[in-house]
Amino acid sequence: MKTDVVVIGGGAGGLSASLSAYKEGVDVILVEREERIGGILNQCIHNGFGLHYFKQELTGPEYAEIFIDMLKKTNIKVLSNSFLYSIDEKEKKIYIVTPHGIKDIETKAIIIATGARERPFGSLLIPGKRLSGIFTAGVAQKYINILNIFPGKRALILGSGDIGLIMARRLTLEGVEVVGVVERLPYPGGLLRNVIQCLEDYKIPLYLSSTVTEVRGKGRLEEVVVARVDENFNPIPGSEKIFKVDTLILSVGLIPNTELLEDKVEIDKTSRGFSVNNLGQTSLDFVFASGNCTIIYDLVDYVTYEGEKVGKYASLYVKGQRFGKRIPIKKGKNIGILYPNYYTPIEDLTLYLRVRKPMERGILKIGTFEKEYKDLVPSEILRVHIPEKYIKNLKEIEVCIKEEKFYV
Ligand SMILES: Cc1cc2nc3c(=O)[nH]c(=O)nc-3n(C[C@H](O)[C@H](O)[C@H](O)COP(=O)(O)OP(=O)(O)OC[C@H]3O[C@@H](n4cnc5c(N)ncnc54)[C@H](O)[C@@H]3O)c2cc1C
Repeated sequence: MKTDVVVIGGGAGGLSASLSAYKEGVDVILVEREERIGGILNQCIHNGFGLHYFKQELTGPEYAEIFIDMLKKTNIKVLSNSFLYSIDEKEKKIYIVTPHGIKDIETKAIIIATGARERPFGSLLIPGKRLSGIFTAGVAQKYINILNIFPGKRALILGSGDIGLIMARRLTLEGVEVVGVVERLPYPGGLLRNVIQCLEDYKIPLYLSSTVTEVRGKGRLEEVVVARVDENFNPIPGSEKIFKVDTLILSVGLIPNTELLEDKVEIDKTSRGFSVNNLGQTSLDFVFASGNCTIIYDLVDYVTYEGEKVGKYASLYVKGQRFGKRIPIKKGKNIGILYPNYYTPIEDLTLYLRVRKPMERGILKIGTFEKEYKDLVPSEILRVHIPEKYIKNLKEIEVCIKEEKFYV
């Protein structure tokens, strides 16, 4: 097969990039390893999607359906049940595994939109046997929302990121008793709206500065030991509490899916996602990246905005445009996660960042640009538009937040 742009992954990042590349008049093939396109949105049946992009509140499947309907009206070729397994960067060819065997696609540009995977139980080094009843939140969500299978009767959740909070509510609504959410940080990891709507509204306790130190049971999980932690996250002896549960749900972070290209393109050491410029271009000029394989976004709307940009610039690349210099963007004080890693001065810069710690008040400083923020929290991504005039003459762009306190 031959095409102009091949997109790998049919979630929000891949769908938006495919559609915008197509609008620029190039041929597009979309490769998706699942039967159905839509990605993680398909199993997120709660609402809270599309508030920025569509100015209305949709469920995940409703949000995906709008893009799938648009895709059906195009000539974009969708290869589902097919996954990328290698890229030959010299020949500009990719190899995919399909139900009909291994196939190659010759392409002028690639957009990787492979999303992210969940951190598994094994990575947490929690002592105990390999018991049944321990699930990542995404797997439990798929069991309940798509397969109609109950993970258990009484559950504890580790991790108060948005996925953990949403699962606490979902399990409760389905009749599972959720005895608490355990979080090692001294503040919740997810959006405030989710803390209120998913925990407080259902009177589910949140145990902050705490972690799981042991799992016990014979075959199936029976008990989970939770201890308080000190400021270095070390369990405090004597603070243990035992929860009698048959289910432990892990919501301890997502890792961008970059493995297939890790030895070929630059990866951001903190986010573990692809390092890209503001056009979504990686260090290999014909490879672009879109969505959660770059940074883990909290809102799908942001994935869509950036995906559209990536699709547009991948097609301009196909048409022969080259974009010029890449000015490094560096993380300064109080910045945790930052996207993109480079600025190519073709248009204004839109930055996405997470602060390292909660702050009452902070001044964001980038070149000569300054903006004040109140109540900053690491769980919420800040999307900041920086007009070109503030940064165009810089050799390196440093982004930092100066912490300020309110005095009474
Ligand atoms: C539980 C949960 C709740 C959320 N709640 C909200 C919310 O309320 N509001 C909101 O705005 N956002 C929410 N989000 C965030 C938002 O949904 C995601 O950021 C966004 O959908 C990610 O899109 P993506 O395309 O980057 O990744 P994905 O949706 O993960 O898509 C990646 C796709 O790539 C495919 N793929 C992976 N590897 C390969 C390969 N090698 N070959 C072929 N295909 C491959 C996968 O099958 C998948 O379809 C939530 C996310 C989660 C996980």
